[in-house]
Amino acid sequence: MIVQRVLVQGGGIGGLVAATALARRGVEVDVVEKRPAGSVLGVGLIQPANALRVMREIGVLDAVLSAGHPSEELRLINQDGTVLADFPLPAAPDLPTRSNTLQRRELCRVLLDAAVTAGARLHHEASSAALHEDRDGVDVTFTGDGAPAAGRYDLVVGFDGIRSTLRRHLFGDRYLPRPTGFSVWRISMPCPPEVDRTVYGFVGDLKATLVPLGAGEGYIALIAPEGSVQHGLTTAEIAAQMRVMLGRFGGWVGELAGRLRDGSSAAYGPVEEVSLDERWYRGRVLVAGDATHATSPHMAQGAAMAAEDAAVLAQELTGAGSVPEALEAWWNRRIPRAGLVQRYSAALMRQEQGRAAPEDLKLLELSVPQAQARLARPY
Ligand SMILES: Cc1cc2nc3c(=O)[nH]c(=O)nc-3n(C[C@H](O)[C@H](O)[C@H](O)COP(=O)(O)OP(=O)(O)OC[C@H]3O[C@@H](n4cnc5c(N)ncnc54)[C@H](O)[C@@H]3O)c2cc1C
Repeated sequence: MIVQRVLVQGGGIGGLVAATALARRGVEVDVVEKRPAGSVLGVGLIQPANALRVMREIGVLDAVLSAGHPSEELRLINQDGTVLADFPLPAAPDLPTRSNTLQRRELCRVLLDAAVTAGARLHHEASSAALHEDRDGVDVTFTGDGAPAAGRYDLVVGFDGIRSTLRRHLFGDRYLPRPTGFSVWRISMPCPPEVDRTVYGFVGDLKATLVPLGAGEGYIALIAPEGSVQHGLTTAEIAAQMRVMLGRFGGWVGELAGRLRDGSSAAYGPVEEVSLDERWYRGRVLVAGDATHATSPHMAQGAAMAAEDAAVLAQELTGAGSVPEALEAWWNRRIPRAGLVQRYSAALMRQEQGRAAPEDLKLLELSVPQAQARLARPY
């Protein structure tokens, strides 16, 4: 291994996969996460086949499958809940299932356990304060109640999300999140019997996604165009606005409006994108995951791409001749897949809302099943 000591900033999905994959290869890993232990943002997550392959690579496939709800198909419904079609997900014969859906907190629990078991040191309520890089390493000081002592690292890996401070450290304000004009609303609820696989439905410009999460739980996500973002909404206010939107559906979907609970875990926010038009690293500092290629959620691939970034980074660092060679090889492997997800997802979002540009329609000549099949291939 050409690195002995690595700092990972961000203990979300990408950061925990990176920490696990590197620590399993004998690397000494510190993870700094600014949030307190056990506080996971978000509701649920779809893991397509490529994400499951990463889970297998880091030894947690059985754990995520037993915490979730495996499925082989997607369902499309019309606005009164009638089934229009079931679409098989791309075949993944090397895996026990084609996709899995689970609570984000369950996924983070599994990944955190795996990282710690592999030997990574987790520091919650901590973040880097200053980085000083020379030819052979990076000296880092930290801030926060859980901050570790200052240290020297061979590599600093930024999985610190869409508002990444490491991205700012590398590139200043050149790559700020771009609003797309859409917002997404999510709330958890007991899983309705009709939702035994991920279900998609549309009413006008409103898209609903209903997801089973295992153990009788599920969640609903609504995506709608929104001119100006609302700030400081409570979970009860999110539930209230989702009730109104869900009421635009008829049948069993519309009836779910009356079953949303004010105290459920709920989230709301604008759909934003980030894309870098240059290398994702400089010297011995890199950014990855949402920090680098945050995407609209239409392909359910953002976390999968973050996990792939992490797995491929560990692969390329293994056996490479030098850190620059490893990072260049890593970046070259990651651009085509992360770029496809981002461009395709954005085109799909605009098409679903009747706003597709000619270049979107060109890209969408590759059908959704074809795009999914391409992503389901080994990374
Ligand atoms: C509505 C919605 C639905 C989605 N559904 C799916 C889906 O079904 N499947 C899928 O694959 N993807 C999905 N995604 C995308 C997915 O959530 C993200 O792509 C994924 O979480 C990115 O992982 P990450 O590790 O890069 O960043 P994050 O998960 O955002 O993690 C970043 C971590 O860094 C920490 N952090 C931030 N700044 C600092 C700092 N300065 N110091 C220390 N720590 C810091 C944060 O607290 C956080 O824990 C969805 C996204 C949205 C918005």
